[in-house]
Amino acid sequence: MKAHDGMYIGGAWVPASGADRIQVVDPADEQVIAEVPAGTAEDVDAAVRAARGAFPGWAATPPAERAALVGALRDVLLARKAEFAHTITAELGAPLGFSEAVHVGAPVAVAGSYAELGATYAFEERLGSSTVLMQPVGVVAAITPWNYPLHQIVAKVAPALTAGCTIVLKPAEDTPLTAQLFAEAVHEAGIPAGVFNLVTGTGPVAGQALAEHPGVDLVSFTGSTAVGKRIGAVAGAAIKRVALELGGKSANVVLPGADLAKAVATGVGHVMNNSGQSCNALTRMLVHRDRYEEAVALAAEAVARYPLGDPRAEGTRLGPLVNAKQRDRVRGYIEKGIAEGARLVVGGPQAPRPKGYYVAPTVFADVTPEMTVAQEEIFGPVLAILRYEDEDDALRIANGTVYGLGGAVWAADEDSAVAFARRMETGQVDINGGRFNPLAPFGGWKQSGIGRELGPHGLAEYLQTKSLQF
Ligand code: NAD
Repeated sequence: MKAHDGMYIGGAWVPASGADRIQVVDPADEQVIAEVPAGTAEDVDAAVRAARGAFPGWAATPPAERAALVGALRDVLLARKAEFAHTITAELGAPLGFSEAVHVGAPVAVAGSYAELGATYAFEERLGSSTVLMQPVGVVAAITPWNYPLHQIVAKVAPALTAGCTIVLKPAEDTPLTAQLFAEAVHEAGIPAGVFNLVTGTGPVAGQALAEHPGVDLVSFTGSTAVGKRIGAVAGAAIKRVALELGGKSANVVLPGADLAKAVATGVGHVMNNSGQSCNALTRMLVHRDRYEEAVALAAEAVARYPLGDPRAEGTRLGPLVNAKQRDRVRGYIEKGIAEGARLVVGGPQAPRPKGYYVAPTVFADVTPEMTVAQEEIFGPVLAILRYEDEDDALRIANGTVYGLGGAVWAADEDSAVAFARRMETGQVDINGGRFNPLAPFGGWKQSGIGRELGPHGLAEYLQTKSLQF
């Protein structure tokens, strides 16, 4: 597969400082498809310098002009949709249809929403006798994961550009080709040199060097809670702004009287899509004891509608996991679920295909709230179905993890669902289904993170205020 053997710094592809390379592997057949440079602290420094150099000019560019360039970027992403989708399928393993519709569709919508927002956003406001200016924070370090390789980048870069910040991106080791393609799109859109820079590399070397760099004003990180805690500590020590989008263990609460078939089918889809590698996946389904067995049977039926296979084959809805480590981790959780006494309804730890990092879609019933599979983020196609006695019990279970990222409530009417959602300790709740809205803030309560992405709340992360007193 096509790859650049360099970093995108200061508006051009420049050679990497070191000789180390990262191999990119197709998780469906375990073949190496490309390699990219493993960045060093030297590469990071060059990128931060380029971003610092470009900052004054970009910050002074009128917001409407910046917004127009974000709009141009959105158009390039859309025009190159097929190329992005094939690249994401090749390095992540997501079924091609899902790559097109969600992996590319969502970031196109997000970039479009910032192009609109940036043109109309009030970057200053009058408060009594003062004028409050909303000014860009400065140089942003964007550190992103592999699970939504384009969306996670756009969810940081689009608002940062709109705000007037300049950026250095360090994407995940597993999905650097999408990031390189994104850098090409930035170039093609005509975004000025140095405003966006890309350094590929490992987390402990390039990622750490970037987070610690004194020329970085804000670290925006999406990834695991473990690494998020380290980044938070680094940023805290330097009094740097920080935004953390971390893990989740989201609850799908089916209240008595809800449309059970729809709730279960949607909930199962939410866990199976992207092979369960979604931070907001609804991995815990909470069902009232009177309808519990009915829900378990419906879930088993729904899983059958997710055929596992080659992500490029027509009809495949479940691809492999991203790499061998994730596959082994997920299988380990399935084994733990069985060992702790959960009832295996479908799936299991065995390899469903001889080659590729596949995990069978798995459903556990009779899961109790303290079991590992009900507490820890699995990041695979594994659903845990829990039983509750009454609404208070359901709320206790829903709120009973260290996380608070997504969630869903199903009820006979919207008002009852909203009343329950108000009591949930989480950043986002789908009401009787819900759908993706690029303007709605996304982010976590508790250990799921600090800060928000998307829409005006996401833009505010990249702005700082200055009060002019008259
Ligand atoms: P990860 O934390 O290992 O890596 C994320 C990014 O951080 C990668 O670019 C990695 O290279 C980098 N990194 C690793 N160590 C670093 C260090 N010491 N300093 C600086 N950067 C470092 O996570 P992952 O395995 O890529 O992604 C899976 C996890 O991310 C899951 O737990 C998932 O829940 C979480 N996630 C959360 C969200 C969200 O929006 N809340 C989105 C996607 C993924």
